[in-house]
Amino acid sequence: MANLLFFPQPFPDESLYSLAVRYHKLAANQGYRATSQELFGSYSRTCGSILPCCLEALSERLRGAFSVGELIERFTLLPLFLPFLDDEKGRDAAVLMGGNRGTGLKMALGITASRFLQHASFRYCESCVREDILECGSAYWHRIHQASGTCICPRHSEVLQAIRFPGWSDWRCMLLPGESAGTPVMDCGDHSGAVAIAHMQLWGLDHPNEMKTILAGNLLRNRLDEMGFIRSGRIREQMLRDFLTRRLRCSPSAAEFEEMVRSAEWVFQILRRQGRTVQPFKFYFLCWLLDLELEHLKTYRLEDVNRAGIVVRPDEPNNLIPDDDLHARRIAFAKSTNLKCHDKPGYQWLYRHDREWLARYVAGNPYHRDRRILIDWQSRDSALALELAKAKTMILSVDGKPQQVARAALCRRVLNAHAFLKMPDHFPMSTRLMAGLLESTHDHQLRKIRWAIREYSLTENCAMSVLYRYAGIRISRVSEDEVFTQIRDDMD
Ligand SMILES: [Zn+2]
Repeated sequence: MANLLFFPQPFPDESLYSLAVRYHKLAANQGYRATSQELFGSYSRTCGSILPCCLEALSERLRGAFSVGELIERFTLLPLFLPFLDDEKGRDAAVLMGGNRGTGLKMALGITASRFLQHASFRYCESCVREDILECGSAYWHRIHQASGTCICPRHSEVLQAIRFPGWSDWRCMLLPGESAGTPVMDCGDHSGAVAIAHMQLWGLDHPNEMKTILAGNLLRNRLDEMGFIRSGRIREQMLRDFLTRRLRCSPSAAEFEEMVRSAEWVFQILRRQGRTVQPFKFYFLCWLLDLELEHLKTYRLEDVNRAGIVVRPDEPNNLIPDDDLHARRIAFAKSTNLKCHDKPGYQWLYRHDREWLARYVAGNPYHRDRRILIDWQSRDSALALELAKAKTMILSVDGKPQQVARAALCRRVLNAHAFLKMPDHFPMSTRLMAGLLESTHDHQLRKIRWAIREYSLTENCAMSVLYRYAGIRISRVSEDEVFTQIRDDMD
């Protein structure tokens, strides 16, 4: 193994890929293959990744100038993910990044399942490029710009550009920002949400330990409590869902946000801690949806929280607040009789500064629902039926391996799924329709077989086991005759 004769001095928040590109240029190598061989001793397919591998080999070649841990901490995005991983998963990820193969890393961290990868690009900020050239002598790739959900430069509040690598090439052509044209990653318009999220992500990346403490302190649950979405220790789900549906409409208009604005289901998965690892971007996006900003993260203290996750904040002295101000806020709150308590103006302020009065007022003035705004179940039912039918068409037209038209898949694509599942009696038309929409395992397998035959140009000579493997079928529910009919039909 040859030590490296030189290596670029890292710039602030520079990514490992950026260092490799600058090394490549200084070494005047012909292609990426030579650079990869020199840096990693092998052909690394992950050098352009936010979680690159082969770091042990690089650390050895740098004669320990950076340990594997330091390379990970300073030049990769793993620290952004660490607060959301348990210690074992965090250690496993670091081991994989040290080794030569990163197989399964993105899967283990839930990145593959999040579908954010399809919107990933190499991003830069035009102002950063100009300033970096002046201050550092060269433009470089900033680590935070590459994080999913960062569409704005946290330093300049400018929309990031995604580089277009020339021709059919990809990151292996080893370019720095500004060396090829770019396109903005989001439309113009109101960027305040994207700015807030970018600031939080940058802080989270730089302060993984603080973030871990904040998560242990149940920030989100306490915020929900503060906003009136928790009663008797339980989340008021429908109320929160309605709030989120309204709030999601104001989301930033970038591709990765569109993944999340269709439904608020992912929020409940985070809150119930179900399923896969929480993606940092989803967490910070949810913070923004709940009107939390960087300042809240910085000032959030674990002592404010008890073990059950409910706020026990000592009453803050409100003797610094002028009486006039307090009085005006109480009047404004009390005058809005047609609103539910947490929707009234100044609810959150009063909750923080004048809780005793607020509790007394709310107890003495219960909210009565206006009978005219009772839910029109019939129109909800017919709207849902229409949505379910559309959802089936969408599932059938999805590219790639066919998905089964199952109850869960249909419900994921409609708005009122939760109410539908909890109160089926309110949805007679949709319930009847649903029974007819579902696809049997047999029919689904036939569709998968049809798809595999076309996708892989399979013929009658192909072994049945091979065909099943391509179609993703483990236990067959179709007869061999049916399979042959499919192949013949396709050949005709
Ligand atoms: Zn910038």
